Amino acid sequence: MRDDLVACPDCGRLHRVRQPRPGHRAECTRCGAVLYRRGVGGVHHALPAALAGAALLALLALNPLMAVHIQGNDREGLVTTGIEALNDQGMWPLALLVAALVLAVPVARVAGVTLVLSALREGRRPGNPRSLARLFAWTERLRAWAMLDVFLLGLLVAYSRLAGFANAEFMAGGLALGGYVLIRTAMDQTLDRRAVWNAIDHAPPSEAPPPARWVACTVCQRVHGFDHAAPAHCTRCASPLHAREPDSLGRTTALVAAGAILYVPANLLPVMTVVNFGQGAPSTILHGVVELAEVGLWPLALLVFVASVAVPVLKLAGLSWFLIATRRGSAARLHARIRLYRVIDSIGRWSNIDVFMIAILAALVQFGAVASIRADDGAIAFAAVVVLTMLASHVFDPRIMWDRAEPPDERDGGGGP
Ligand SMILES: [Zn+2]
Ligand SMILES: [Zn+2]
Repeated sequence: MRDDLVACPDCGRLHRVRQPRPGHRAECTRCGAVLYRRGVGGVHHALPAALAGAALLALLALNPLMAVHIQGNDREGLVTTGIEALNDQGMWPLALLVAALVLAVPVARVAGVTLVLSALREGRRPGNPRSLARLFAWTERLRAWAMLDVFLLGLLVAYSRLAGFANAEFMAGGLALGGYVLIRTAMDQTLDRRAVWNAIDHAPPSEAPPPARWVACTVCQRVHGFDHAAPAHCTRCASPLHAREPDSLGRTTALVAAGAILYVPANLLPVMTVVNFGQGAPSTILHGVVELAEVGLWPLALLVFVASVAVPVLKLAGLSWFLIATRRGSAARLHARIRLYRVIDSIGRWSNIDVFMIAILAALVQFGAVASIRADDGAIAFAAVVVLTMLASHVFDPRIMWDRAEPPDERDGGGGP
């Protein structure tokens, strides 16, 4: 166990990493993945941003995002109003999803980061490193599922769609949301994850050659050498250790197939119904894009088209390509595949823009006979496609593409297939 060793998360090659200069990064020699990005400050440099983020999150949760005025009627909507409105319309799976992605997960993550960084402030030795490591491991797992940045775009799209028939204005909660997204970006840029892991628990580097058989933790990156049987859990963060994601290809295939099937109703069924003075019809995802274009909001129409229609297709097609090529043991275009994998894994969450827009509109536009908006069944199918394809790219282990294409040597991962 030596924390100068880093295994590439994308291709599995083992490296001995010397500390890069502040602000610089170390890259994989085989596939170019970023192995380690060194922050510019110390471990607790991100603490002020985390504390400011927590304060803005409280403001955001307790204040209205936006107010709408139609024909002398006013209505304000909080994040929770949207969740309640979806639940009242019988859309509880959607209500649950929105509550998790824009409230529960962001709050849990900011609270976790704040607790970990406060425990480590001023170079303190953590009193209980094992529980601190477990807590930081959870905040790392939650990172991709904290979606307030996507929710902010959903709010902007909702605002633009209201412009056609109502007066809408941003309120304190909406401004807090904008501030939070900026602060969170600052926090993620300054947070030096490897330094945090090393401050929690550090195994000193050694001049000895790297172990012949080893397995790397995918959460905290610690490399565990072994002679006979691989250890079952990470000695630092207690995450289960596997040489490769168990049954990665089978589980990814099932998730991709389910996503592809649901993609059809997600696009054919209406996702919401807008009724304005008794006039109105259910509208699909594509219809929403056309509506934005018709009122001249081309950039926004393009954004929603890419996020809601093109990205899910790219994910399903890309993952299918990886699965077929991996099963055939093909080495063709491995570098193109790994680059596409990184794109797919990072942009998938942005497909939720439409889901959040619907939650916001359903909360705000409830004016009885004058105007009302409600979510329809297509929205559940659409949200399911987004979640299934995100899970598929998390479950897919890109290292298997390299194992099957190039017989692994001892630098590429021990302990089994
Ligand atoms: Zn690599
Ligand atoms: Zn670990």
